[in-house]
Amino acid sequence: MKRLDDGVSVDEPRLDRRNLLKLGVAGTAAALASAVPVPASASIIRDDGFGVVFHDSFPQEVSPDYKRFNQYNTIFKSDRRRGIPAMKPIWDNDRPGFTGSDYAMSLAASTLWQTGKRMGPQSMNAIYEPGKFSLPTPHKFPDAATAHAQIKRVARMFGANVVGITRRDERWDYSHVVDPLNEKKVTPWEEHYKGFNPKTVIVVGTEMDYEALAAAPSQTADATMLNAYSELTYIVMHLARYFSYMGYRAIPSVNDVAMNVPYAIAAGLGESNRMGMLQNYHYGTRLRIAKVHIELELDEYYDKPVTFGIESFCANCLHCADNCPSKSISRDDRPSIFTAEDVKDMPFINPGVRKWHLNGQKCHDYWIESGSTCGTCLATCPYNKPSFWHHRLIDRVNTMIPGPLHKVMAEMDLWHGYGNMFDEKAPAVFWDPKGRSYNGLLKDY
Ligand code: SF4
Ligand code: SF4
Repeated sequence: MKRLDDGVSVDEPRLDRRNLLKLGVAGTAAALASAVPVPASASIIRDDGFGVVFHDSFPQEVSPDYKRFNQYNTIFKSDRRRGIPAMKPIWDNDRPGFTGSDYAMSLAASTLWQTGKRMGPQSMNAIYEPGKFSLPTPHKFPDAATAHAQIKRVARMFGANVVGITRRDERWDYSHVVDPLNEKKVTPWEEHYKGFNPKTVIVVGTEMDYEALAAAPSQTADATMLNAYSELTYIVMHLARYFSYMGYRAIPSVNDVAMNVPYAIAAGLGESNRMGMLQNYHYGTRLRIAKVHIELELDEYYDKPVTFGIESFCANCLHCADNCPSKSISRDDRPSIFTAEDVKDMPFINPGVRKWHLNGQKCHDYWIESGSTCGTCLATCPYNKPSFWHHRLIDRVNTMIPGPLHKVMAEMDLWHGYGNMFDEKAPAVFWDPKGRSYNGLLKDY
């Protein structure tokens, strides 16, 4: 599926013959001493990533009286209860990005994601129990460092672009779980997963295609998002099976079971941005996230959260808010920490964490109106560029310079023709929904 690329720390050994032999034959911490990552290093940061700050605890302020969020209150669940679908399927052969082919591609891309929820006892969001072919006693890694390195290699082999491993934090698990096959069935997390006490959460990310996403809002952009969800389904189901064959119970999930963004932040995969989403060091918001809850404890060998200047950059860049057709994205100068009283009319907002909050209701209303999952905000973000050398150079400088210069850098993105999603004069990209032609900007990608 994916090549091993930007998500791999240069400190970590590849899954090649030489390293496999080292692991298989020696199988000890001594054999790994020269190969395992620095303890708790984040998988997304290369040696040359400077200006990155590692944190010992969750990097955003959380209220002491923070309450776990109920999955019942997510916008998709509440809209579905009112008979509103996730998206209105439309097609129009005269409308680029919404032709019958684009419509079919978008639906086809979600095949594995949809199927994964309906596979009986080994469905997504279910506990994968050890079974007939599992080891008779749970596999013991020589030490937590070996387990950490091995789990990351396996996740990448299954196709993850980025992997982070963090301690389970109950605050980020939903307080109540909605049964994916019966939306009316809502049970407290501990009752739904009775007897399962995970210690660790493995968070994986897979990138969305730059060119398809650049055509947002359209069904071509939807297709890359849904394709990422199907890829994630494949990855986390295989990871959960890997653990169950080793003798450990595990739950794979994409958007269910727990909130992805705080777990991804805790696992060192990025920072929260103006959209309230994950900003990854290499992929920006062009990344979709899933996770696996596992029983295995990795002692203190967990990845650390990282920050690399996103709050300052977003404070000076409003591209996503400027381009959002439904005005769902905050224009506040700084993130805020809402109380339950502040959001009593907006139950889809999770109070108690300092962040920029998205108006999910307005956003979802636009999805229905546009016949797409929009994604304009994702496509406009300056951090989403592929690995052209000059973009990566800017990433590195961003982490070192003071806030006001971030404003200039955000403007430079527009001068170079990116980010103005509804500007007819902006350079076109392949699959452009307005029918403009591919201008060759992305030829080397
Ligand atoms: S998906 Fe579209 S409507 Fe929703 S926040 Fe992003 S730009 Fe706005
Ligand atoms: S578009 Fe700008 S403000 Fe929005 S998330 Fe990206 S960097 Fe932050």
